[in-house]
Amino acid sequence: MIPVFKPHIDADTMKAAVDALHLGWLGMGSYVKAFEEKLTEAFELGPDRKLVAVNTCTSALHLALLTAGVGPGDEVITPALNNIGDFQAIGMCGARPVFVDINEHDLSINPDLIEPLIGPKTKAIIVLHYTGATAQVHRVLEIAKKHNLRVVEDAAHATGTRVEGKPIGSYGDLSCFSFDAIKTLTCIDGGAVVVPRAEEANDLYPARLLGMTQPNERLYGNSRAYQFDVLKQGFRYHLANLHAAIGLTQLAKLDEFNANRRKYCRLYNELLAGVPGVITPTDRFDGASIFHYCLRVLDGKRPDLQAHMCANGVDSGIHWMPGNRFTWLQDCRGANDVPVTDRIGDEILTLPLWSYMNDEVIHTVANAIRSFYGQPAL
Ligand SMILES: *Cc1c(COP(=O)(O)O)cnc(C)c1O
Repeated sequence: MIPVFKPHIDADTMKAAVDALHLGWLGMGSYVKAFEEKLTEAFELGPDRKLVAVNTCTSALHLALLTAGVGPGDEVITPALNNIGDFQAIGMCGARPVFVDINEHDLSINPDLIEPLIGPKTKAIIVLHYTGATAQVHRVLEIAKKHNLRVVEDAAHATGTRVEGKPIGSYGDLSCFSFDAIKTLTCIDGGAVVVPRAEEANDLYPARLLGMTQPNERLYGNSRAYQFDVLKQGFRYHLANLHAAIGLTQLAKLDEFNANRRKYCRLYNELLAGVPGVITPTDRFDGASIFHYCLRVLDGKRPDLQAHMCANGVDSGIHWMPGNRFTWLQDCRGANDVPVTDRIGDEILTLPLWSYMNDEVIHTVANAIRSFYGQPAL
């Protein structure tokens, strides 16, 4: 079976993991410092911006929302087509999502629909760069500024994506990244939050470490202090050396991962062009890190196509069931007013996309789809 995701674990990653284990300091330490520094460089963060590594993107989103001042009874505007981690992070603040619809052309937030949803309890807007291609984040930043709201960019799909030439994290407000088991850059588990002001990072260092006022320099030197204070609520969100060591080897290859993935997406588009009954993604791949290739399957044929692909040895995924369909979230504001999400939620299909694929695999996947629609193999 050709899997949807296949992380690239090579000899460099294996060696880094073994080296980190040999170091003997398994918790947060020198590798985390190096990983934060390399990410800061890769994302071209200016001197005021700070990147804080954490254990998952869900943790990063939680910390970003707390930084945005989201608390009990508040609301956060988010596209209904989003990861469960985003909804849970909102819930962890005691707040509720407010669902906004997406654009047909990029499957990301539709900025025109945001303002009517802003209410007295709204604190933040989440912009997801769906698949890793860019969302209309600058429009959202303008709206947020006008209403004094914070913007959290979910860049879990978009590690290395540039928006108008600038890497996500280097402009804008708060940004969150995922390095989980299936993401383009994997730490096995890992995440990061970028804050636009150093003072905000100073709050996050204890927040990620159970609230402890441990000096960073000490931890980054593979040691810890036994005298410390706890100033406020904190979480066990820090990243371990082993994970950071793996991430460093992945980051060194990120540009190649991303260039390959763009090339494979273009080949899919070429091989699937003209197949009736499907819509291929618009080529907005330039400058982007594409995490998944999202095909749209029309006329309710998705379950049959998936079964046919499966019978031909090709797995496929659905990212995701829209949030307004979950029992827990059905009563959120906006849940009944996202018609594009409702329709597209039944059409989206994730095709296999890895950082290193050979053309034969891509042809096998495309031909499994083509044969379902009675098209000759290519
Ligand atoms: C994977 C993902 C997350 C959650 O990331 P974790 O690191 O697994 O917590 C959040 N948002 C999006 C868009 C994702 O794809």
